[in-house]
Amino acid sequence: MSKNIQAIRGMNDILPQQSVKWRYLEDTVRAVLSSYGYGEIRLPIVEYTDLFKRSIGEVTDIVEKEMYTFEDRNGESLTLRPEGTASCVRAGQEHGLLYNQIQRLWYTGPMFRYEKPQKGRYRQFHQIGVETFGMNGPDIDAEVIMVTARLWRDLGLIDHVTLQLNSLGSNQARADYKAALVNYLTERKDQLDEDSQRRLDSNPLRILDSKNPDMQALLADAPVLLEYLDEESKQHFESLKAQLDLAGIAYEINPRLVRGLDYYCKTVFEWVTDALGAQGTVCAGGRYDGLVEQLGGKTTPAVGFAMGVERLVLLLETLTDSEHLTTNPDFYVMGMGEAGQQQALLLAEKVRDQLPGAMVLAHCGGGKFKKQMKKADDSGAQFALILGEDEIAANTVGVKFLREDAEQITLAQADIAEYFKDRLTVR
Ligand code: ATP
Ligand code: MG
Repeated sequence: MSKNIQAIRGMNDILPQQSVKWRYLEDTVRAVLSSYGYGEIRLPIVEYTDLFKRSIGEVTDIVEKEMYTFEDRNGESLTLRPEGTASCVRAGQEHGLLYNQIQRLWYTGPMFRYEKPQKGRYRQFHQIGVETFGMNGPDIDAEVIMVTARLWRDLGLIDHVTLQLNSLGSNQARADYKAALVNYLTERKDQLDEDSQRRLDSNPLRILDSKNPDMQALLADAPVLLEYLDEESKQHFESLKAQLDLAGIAYEINPRLVRGLDYYCKTVFEWVTDALGAQGTVCAGGRYDGLVEQLGGKTTPAVGFAMGVERLVLLLETLTDSEHLTTNPDFYVMGMGEAGQQQALLLAEKVRDQLPGAMVLAHCGGGKFKKQMKKADDSGAQFALILGEDEIAANTVGVKFLREDAEQITLAQADIAEYFKDRLTVR
């Protein structure tokens, strides 16, 4: 016998029981983003490798070791996108959406990174991302954070996530700070772990978010980024905090928050939870005023964020009552004898006409009453609708209550909508 082919490690199938939760999340996000006037942009999954190298930065984890890069049949180097911001900027520029304009955009879809698969970390994962362009002030930074806060409220997650905030300042401020940090760490080079030694040359700011407790201890007395901020960034940060205070959005300042990618400046933020173990960041973003120019466009201020769909679905499952998100049908429609079965398919259509949104499963495959009844029960349906000879003759239907202790009743078929309209699961 030949061996079964399995899915690639870290690339998951999302089965119907789970996909209802995904859809609930996606629908909620769509509704929230539309209420703020954000437009959806759909982007390709594959781009030229250079796009990511030039935007994310050569010495980041993503570009150094996580990209799925391959040559196509023309010998061009292509990459499965590891994130969405670069593609969004590329598309914005290509279609003239960025120059001298204001844009509020969002996208969703799979991203690919060659990481060690574990809970909350996969090789194909999904993000919902938001990118705004053309706005300089801290008000738009506040708005995108307000979008996320509203989302957590609507999803029932607001009490389980914390907003962490930092400012990276201007390029100059960051360069000054980098020099001071490198100085401090070089004096303690023998105490650095292997990763940090490597990063000391390539990307020293990344050492700040090392997960190693020894490194964290070593960093306790290191220079603090916020003390190196230029005047403009300082004011920007103060106004942002004031706006969040007014909006009643709580935050923690995390001076070690630097984000992994090269293109951020000024505001950076993450929403974190302690309910998921090590993979605690569910949403991350910030300002990236230099990226459009870096990719060949005119200087364009920009702010955005991306959230991890898998981690959010895990949170919904762990922390909220997601019972109502089921694939259980409302009705299981069955008929006795050949005529009964024919009529059952038609009755199922009638119910769908009369009760839009109801989930109606029609029995297929015949069989005796007992067998059909067992299928009805196994389906998880609330109600069985049963057609026998008498019901067909009288235009009625038998209703059996599968999940409550109640006697079977007979209803006129014309009364089905009226009788059930307030009895169905709200999806
Ligand atoms: P982490 O520190 O967890 O590796 P990151 O800084 O690499 O995250 P971003 O590139 O900012 O993450 O992506 C934004 C969000 O996408 C993350 O906060 C997380 O929720 C999600 N995410 C990132 N990588 C993965 C992955 N491999 N699997 C699942 N979700 C992910
Ligand atoms: Mg990562």
